[in-house]
Amino acid sequence: MKLIDGKIISEHIKQQVIAQVNDIKAQGIEPCLAVIIVGDDFASRTYVNNKKKTCDYVGIKSLEYALPESTTQEELLELVEKLNADKSVHGILCQLPIPKHIDEKIILNAIAPEKDVDAFHPVNAGHIMIGDGVLRPCTPAGIMEMLKYEGIDVAGKNCVVIGRSNIVGKPMAMLLINASGTVTVCNSKTQNLAEITKKADILVAAVGKAKFVTADMVKEGAVVIDVGMNRDEDGKRCGDVDFEAVKEKASHITPVPGGVGLMTVAMLMENTVTAAKMQNLKG
Ligand code: NAP
Repeated sequence: MKLIDGKIISEHIKQQVIAQVNDIKAQGIEPCLAVIIVGDDFASRTYVNNKKKTCDYVGIKSLEYALPESTTQEELLELVEKLNADKSVHGILCQLPIPKHIDEKIILNAIAPEKDVDAFHPVNAGHIMIGDGVLRPCTPAGIMEMLKYEGIDVAGKNCVVIGRSNIVGKPMAMLLINASGTVTVCNSKTQNLAEITKKADILVAAVGKAKFVTADMVKEGAVVIDVGMNRDEDGKRCGDVDFEAVKEKASHITPVPGGVGLMTVAMLMENTVTAAKMQNLKG
């Protein structure tokens, strides 16, 4: 079994981003990411702090807009519009989840597609579907980078994705299809899940249930990618895969923590520098 080390691969991506940042700074452009956080969700605060820290590390300027829970949809939309119009801001992200009295879809759709560094806007989702997406959703894009780094060719492989969310499962399936994988996407209504997952050469688990993927669901020699971020019965961080048992069967496996999560942040940095280039170096 080979561990796919998110620490090493995300550092590799970050070094590439640093080189690009230096390059565009030399042309007088300072890449800038605006991060909006509404309310005081503890996990969201941790994610936002981590994103800001990584911005500092790679040399991207970060702006934080921390708004109170009581913020109205109109106020949030106003901020998004202001950031859309600000030429010195290249990326905008609104940390999810946002409070229930605000329509998440309306906010995500209001972010200008060229500044949508999470790539959640329908325009960017459409580009991913067509196969010409420049801004790719960070988690699936990070997984593709992991596969590439490890020399795992997706073409011709049976790929199974468990989960069909707009953030992970669906775009993951699209990127695997674009890489010529033969892709099956499962959801909570899927019948005989284990029969399907056992055929996977590449298995991606994006379910949100601790240790959901057990060894009997995995083919000998499969590549197993664990997107889950959960807590086990002892409150310890764990993924969707029963790592200890599955690692005995997998040819490659990502750990949690230390796997996909680190890639997500690295790809956000890459998207921000890409967005800055797109907005400034046209033609
Ligand atoms: P989500 O929106 O809750 O989607 C979960 C998906 O799993 C749904 O499509 C659901 O099916 C499916 N599912 C649930 N039970 C199932 C079952 N018994 N059999 C087959 N499929 C089942 O979650 P998400 O946003 O995609 O996130 C998934 C996990 O990844 C979470 O743990 C999240 O915290 C983590 N995550 C990690 C990162 C990272 O950077 N590492 C980024 C994003 C998310 P239905 O559609 O039928 O309900």
